[in-house]
Amino acid sequence: MNVHDSERIAGMLEAAGYVPAAADVTPDVVVFNTCAVRENADNRLYGNLGQMYPAKKHHPGMQIAVGGCLAQKDRGTITERAPWVDVVFGTHNLHRLPALLERARHNAAAEVEIVEALEVFPSALPSRRSTHHSAWVSISVGCDNTCTFCIVPSLRGKETDRRPGDVLAEVEALVDEGVLEITLLGQNVNSYGRSLGDPGAFAKLLRACGTIDGLERVRFTSPHPRDFTDDVIEAMAATPNVCPQLHMPLQSGSDVVLRRMRRSYRQERFLGILERVRTVMPHAAITTDIIVGFPGETEADFVDTLHVVREARFAGAFTFQYSPREGTPAATMDGQVDPVVVRDRYERLAAVQEEISWEGNRALVGQRVEVLVVEGEGRKDAVTGRRSGRARDGRLVHLGAPSAALIRPGDVVQAMVTRGAPHHLVGDGPLLAHRRTRAGDLWWETAQGALEGPEQGRRSTDLGMPTLRR
Ligand code: SF4
Repeated sequence: MNVHDSERIAGMLEAAGYVPAAADVTPDVVVFNTCAVRENADNRLYGNLGQMYPAKKHHPGMQIAVGGCLAQKDRGTITERAPWVDVVFGTHNLHRLPALLERARHNAAAEVEIVEALEVFPSALPSRRSTHHSAWVSISVGCDNTCTFCIVPSLRGKETDRRPGDVLAEVEALVDEGVLEITLLGQNVNSYGRSLGDPGAFAKLLRACGTIDGLERVRFTSPHPRDFTDDVIEAMAATPNVCPQLHMPLQSGSDVVLRRMRRSYRQERFLGILERVRTVMPHAAITTDIIVGFPGETEADFVDTLHVVREARFAGAFTFQYSPREGTPAATMDGQVDPVVVRDRYERLAAVQEEISWEGNRALVGQRVEVLVVEGEGRKDAVTGRRSGRARDGRLVHLGAPSAALIRPGDVVQAMVTRGAPHHLVGDGPLLAHRRTRAGDLWWETAQGALEGPEQGRRSTDLGMPTLRR
């Protein structure tokens, strides 16, 4: 969600006449779009702001703006702790950034503006997308749940759904621009439509995406096990461009811990969903999020999580060691677990999941995969000369050097899997097929500097499967 907001922030600034700064010049404006979910977000923000201070002193007129969840949380504290910050804006008023920069410049004083309810749905704002081939599409913002570890509802507010017609119009416009893959975004996509009086709206939206010519891949994030209904599973299976991938957050395998987390599904329901998904999509890659060491978690609770992980056979997992977030109910709960114990459980969980992921990837050796080539996914690509991309099920695939020179980010290729590693697949034989796409043409033109304005210098966005690492 934050990456998508950043695209909107960049798009708005460009619409207001700003241009991206070259890498070797000090920019006139720096915007921090913050996230409050991860540990130490505030330390990192204030550390970064401290580093900006000398640059600002030596560059008169430079402006620094801080937005996003941490700004929504800390508000005026930011300008108290870092008085050289010019603008603070929250999650509900992104659209105000250009005006706030202007006003701060005119008044030579900091502007702090935080509002409590969404003023403009971010999708109505201009966007500077990072790639030609893939795009995020917001279907809702905010969340009506109250998971006790999560700060999101208090910072992003209640769920607001976007009308299906607006969502589909945006998807069609993106496809017209050459986009092949979209990811529908919401804090809880399965509650989409309730505020519109149509609880089945998400399944209908998936089916409607299936009718859009030229749209090859549809993904979504995040579902919620409580609200994940069979009509969505049926729509996934019946809509060929919906990818065989599901990111289904488990959080804990213990019913007791789930209750303390205020996650109103239980182990049995969670595993039942996975079984039904696999019945109709046997090759779906299912990934998850897991928190270990939630307050009150006993060794028996943790063993329950290991049990679900073994049963679920996730293709990959985001695993987290619990740490308290100020402002959440869990932060003040009894039974905070000793960090040494949390670390030990985390490592045991990671070892189990790594073995399962690796086994799943090894089982794919010898199979043909379709790969959408993506820039920036393979950290060693520049050194090795290979290309990387994502299979339809979201797996990261590294394509070997003999084929790499021929293909461009945005192109679609078919390759044989020659090796399965814990976190990726390798296809280093000759390509079995290569389809040049309009997104690939646009990437090439951008790389040659042939495109102007917002088209110039797009970077890649990671839309893929989580790795095991924290
Ligand atoms: S459903 Fe997700 S965003 Fe909403 S409160 Fe729970 S963890 Fe947070």
